[in-house]
Amino acid sequence: MVVRLSSSLLLLGLSAAVLVARAVRYGTSLEKPPPSAPPQIERDAAAQRLARALRCRTLSDFDPQRVDREPFERLRHVLEESFPLVHQHLKREQVADLSLLYTWPGREPELQPILLMAHQDVVPVEPGTEGDWKHSPFGGEIAEGFVWGRGALDMKSALTGIFEAVELLLKEGFTPRRTIYFALGHDEEVGGFQGNARIAALLAERGERLEFVLDEGGLIVEGVIPGLRRPVALVGTAEKGFVNFILSARGEGGHSAMPPRRTAVGALSRALMRLERSPFPLRIEFVSEMFRHLGRRLPFAMRLFFANLVLFGPAAARMLAKNPKINSNLRTTLAPTMLRGGVKENVLATDVSAVVNVRILPGETIASTVSRMERIIADPAVKITPTPGTEPSAVSPIETPAFTLLRRTILEVAGEVEVAPYLVVGATDSRYYAHLTNRIYRFMCIPMAPGDIPRLHGTNERISVDDYVRSIAFYHRLIVNSEDL
Ligand SMILES: [Zn+2]
Repeated sequence: MVVRLSSSLLLLGLSAAVLVARAVRYGTSLEKPPPSAPPQIERDAAAQRLARALRCRTLSDFDPQRVDREPFERLRHVLEESFPLVHQHLKREQVADLSLLYTWPGREPELQPILLMAHQDVVPVEPGTEGDWKHSPFGGEIAEGFVWGRGALDMKSALTGIFEAVELLLKEGFTPRRTIYFALGHDEEVGGFQGNARIAALLAERGERLEFVLDEGGLIVEGVIPGLRRPVALVGTAEKGFVNFILSARGEGGHSAMPPRRTAVGALSRALMRLERSPFPLRIEFVSEMFRHLGRRLPFAMRLFFANLVLFGPAAARMLAKNPKINSNLRTTLAPTMLRGGVKENVLATDVSAVVNVRILPGETIASTVSRMERIIADPAVKITPTPGTEPSAVSPIETPAFTLLRRTILEVAGEVEVAPYLVVGATDSRYYAHLTNRIYRFMCIPMAPGDIPRLHGTNERISVDDYVRSIAFYHRLIVNSEDL
């Protein structure tokens, strides 16, 4: 008896030791390069050039006929005036009317080119919030160490930042080894159906294959990952699909004083309630891959969990899913966003509908999402109609020279950060290049405190001059480092 008890205790102790040992060893430990010397950037002049670009009210519109072309033309002139060497040495093509494709020919044209992306268009300022801006959204003001305005983060600072870097390099007499393309779409905020869709088709027609693509999507974040104090550079390696479903139900109509047992409003409400009560299954692979890269920087309790996912996986996923931000990386999410129906308080509605916005995890599809929703709603009276959507992207590999290059450049420029791959929950125009390369990465070298995130598409969008200068240094370094690629 005593022997049996002590041997069970021994076994228990041994298992615990194994779990702890795994937690201690958990995570990747890659060598870090030393910081690189920053290029000579004229801060004030660079900030002024960005400010000029922000003054162009380049709003995209779902209806191309309604787009005001003048601000886009003005932006083109601002770029020409701000970056004379870029316009002297690079070839510029206008695609789909307002999008721009620049080509910087490389020394070794047989190598696959690199494609860097930044969109020209911005989202409008929500009517009624203009007065909440500390500095006018299209005034291009520089104050308190920041450049203020719509597009400062999303993403004219990347657009002019890339050209600042190229202009500097051209001044130094630099010619890249690989050809570099710069794709500047004009309709990203409304789906990119013309701009980057057309640029990607053009490159495909020319038989081009790309070494890698870099677009927006990831940032340097702080205080987003529980238990981690250091900033993390999140590089998007995949993005979710998205689709809007219209759920509709029809009823008989008539006077509400003599209602039938089932009404259209009741059926639709029941369907929405069932969907909310049965969320899509949790899949931890994207989050666990991100955490593996943060490995040793994570608090021990978390490492214990993630190093032993076989044992703790489901519990870890359930715990993390309580945070809506992380939940969006763990499953396909679904959100009813609009409701319509009824004309009068005492008339039974004949036709009611809801819009359900769905963000699909890579590995699932629009079709598999529909069939799951049909199963959960289980009511033939409720019709589910998908509108045109986008399937989730493929997952870009990270064991590639291109990802290593990105990682190295981030560490050289941003210093004390961790670099991790992650899943982008929004959609970017980079998806149009999926047939030209499987190496699509999404990252801007801009730090984002939690308080800054609402500024994206929100009020008081701004970038600090320091962050802007660092972002220029990032593109500069990336191009220089790509000599080794
Ligand atoms: Zn954007």
